Amino acid sequence: MAADRSAPGAPATATGTAAVIDGRAVGARVRERVRAGVAALRAGHGVEPGLATILVGEDPASELYVRRKREACAEAGITSFHEPLDAATPASELAALIDRLNTDPAVHGILLQLPLPDGLAPGAITARIAPAKDVDGLHPVNAGLLAHGSPDAVVPCTPAGVMELLRSAGAELAGARAVVIGRSTLVGRPLASLLLGADATVTHCHSRTRDLAAVCGEAEVIVAAAGVPRLVTADMVAEGAIVIDVGTNRTDEGLVGDVDFEAVSRVAGAISPVPGGVGPMTIAMLLDNTLRAARRTAPSAAAP
Ligand code: NAP
Repeated sequence: MAADRSAPGAPATATGTAAVIDGRAVGARVRERVRAGVAALRAGHGVEPGLATILVGEDPASELYVRRKREACAEAGITSFHEPLDAATPASELAALIDRLNTDPAVHGILLQLPLPDGLAPGAITARIAPAKDVDGLHPVNAGLLAHGSPDAVVPCTPAGVMELLRSAGAELAGARAVVIGRSTLVGRPLASLLLGADATVTHCHSRTRDLAAVCGEAEVIVAAAGVPRLVTADMVAEGAIVIDVGTNRTDEGLVGDVDFEAVSRVAGAISPVPGGVGPMTIAMLLDNTLRAARRTAPSAAAP
């Protein structure tokens, strides 16, 4: 399956032969679409979309992520409510905050920044968030709806962003052989469900997969989400395949993905870089999920 290299968002720069899928450009279009949707919801239905961000502790990376998410909300016209909590906050207090936000009509989405400090179980706390406000899509109800192929599922942001990148690259997913590397609840599993929902023929790989190279070599679409620097090498990729790199690995050489970008660019049809690929999509899709959650509170607001 050839990538449509003239597709918007498929890329300003190319290394070797592959079109480079520009996540910053695709993410900016999603953000603009959300901004317009927020304005229309406010004007037409009087709904002011609101996102609550909960940050427990003072991890600098988490603080930065939350700040970026709040800045992105402001640009899109989404009101954000920040709830910083001390690292020693007991689970009962965090649960009480979530209960309050669950019933606050000004809050349409609740984002609990992970990881949580030791002693707070993320699974139990995530499950406390009302599924309709679970804009990270991590609640078991949303995971179940997605696995059932329900359009009512709130889709986790990173996998949703991967699907946007594939669309921007002109990927024809119906019938295509797609390989997902990684089976986390955050990325790999929901992504496999989304690709299946798009009628791809999905092979799901993980650390116990035998001969990953042979499995990948058959694929027209490869999504790498293993957290292993340069796991996917050029000899594993069929000519013309579309390769999306979710990996974000901090190494001595800086930030690298799960794909050997330089070498794979010479065989793939299209490839997403790290940084500048999936990363910018995650926040964009969080805004999109918040808008969708707000729309659901105004039943007459039709989704575009
Ligand atoms: P995770 O929970 O650690 O899961 C990693 C998955 O990869 C597991 O299923 C594991 O298999 C599999 N795996 C590990 N080594 C492998 C190997 N050698 N061959 C095949 N499969 C292998 O990680 P995650 O949360 O899904 O994240 C994956 C990567 O994406 C990380 O680099 C993370 O930083 C990045 N990420 C980026 C964004 C973004 O916004 N750009 C968002 C989320 C995550 P087992 O199940 O068998 O252990």
